[in-house]
Amino acid sequence: MYNSLKKNNKKKYIYFNTNKYKPKCIKNILDKFIINQNEAKKIISTTIYNHYKIINNKNKNKYIWNKSNILLIGPTGSGKTLLAEIIEKEFNIPISITDATRFTEAGYVGEDVENIIYNLLQKCNFNIKKTENGIIFIDEIDKIAKKTQNISITRDVSGEGVQQSLLKIIEGSITYIPPKGGRKHPQDNYIPINTKNILFICSGTFNGINEIINKKLNNNNFGFNTNLNNIKKNKEIETEDLIKYGLIPEFIGRLPIIIKLNKLDKNSLYKILIKPKNSIIKYYKYLFKLENIKLSFTKKSLKEIVKKTIKKNTGARGLKNIIEKTLNEIMYISPSKKNIKKIIIKKNTIKKNQKPKIILNNKGE
Ligand code: ADP
Repeated sequence: MYNSLKKNNKKKYIYFNTNKYKPKCIKNILDKFIINQNEAKKIISTTIYNHYKIINNKNKNKYIWNKSNILLIGPTGSGKTLLAEIIEKEFNIPISITDATRFTEAGYVGEDVENIIYNLLQKCNFNIKKTENGIIFIDEIDKIAKKTQNISITRDVSGEGVQQSLLKIIEGSITYIPPKGGRKHPQDNYIPINTKNILFICSGTFNGINEIINKKLNNNNFGFNTNLNNIKKNKEIETEDLIKYGLIPEFIGRLPIIIKLNKLDKNSLYKILIKPKNSIIKYYKYLFKLENIKLSFTKKSLKEIVKKTIKKNTGARGLKNIIEKTLNEIMYISPSKKNIKKIIIKKNTIKKNQKPKIILNNKGE
């Protein structure tokens, strides 16, 4: 199987076009889909540009090159995964999106860490060169933090062990991948993949990290001019905070770019509903248009959706959930009815579960 794969890989691959996409241009495209998170979009745009600029450069081996892997930290539903999804879709860069909680140290129940490479290989249709220059996005990285700072007695299978295994891949090594994924079998013809050029983006919510930072700043300011406002302003996440959280120093060392994403406020959530190129409201309007029905939302209903979402505390994730629930019944009924012309979602459709206003073709309601 590996020989046939090798033949496939003779095709020359064009990587991300850094002549066409400069950092500003990348950010402009991200802006069309991702609301707020300006700093994150800027840094990611520059990082991706630099990464592929080096990869595309024929003289790359002349210089010592340290990959700029990224750590995204931000509340749930703030756009961390969305960033990866848009980069993949809009720039045609293969990105494998995985969840760190699936992995355990080799030999234990669960998936081997190498499977993330297999996922990328699949994404690249088993094109090895493309795989070796792709991006791996690992979500929930905070869930593989060490459980406590002193784990000397039992082995921390789901924490430090996984970090160590991931470290090898992130650092850049030849990793041997079973051709069908899953666990390794001695008789398999492994596919060697060099992970040197693979860009890693790790992401997590890191719940509780603010307490660690506050405690540190409180201690630093002890006896001096302790001022709570100063503490709030200085809330930069530093390596030492992540170590306290349970990431091992070598692992953090391989993620030199730390980006904080903001919690989305009501204005951002409102914009997310209507502004992005593929916004949730545009999506549902389109869905109904396919049935020749005009779906509309009053401004007040949109504000109510945002209000409800904020209460859920799941970031922008809540928006879709609320709209889906609201439209469920009407989406079930309307395709079998020929005479619906327009459906209007009003504030009380959201707030009090009242039925939406339906206007029929023959002027009836
Ligand atoms: P997480 O930060 O937990 O990875 P996601 O990026 O998966 O969250 O967000 C879930 C959904 O919420 C996205 O698919 C998208 O519809 C919406 N969303 C989240 N953040 C944003 C944002 N900043 N701009 C536009 N839509 C967003």
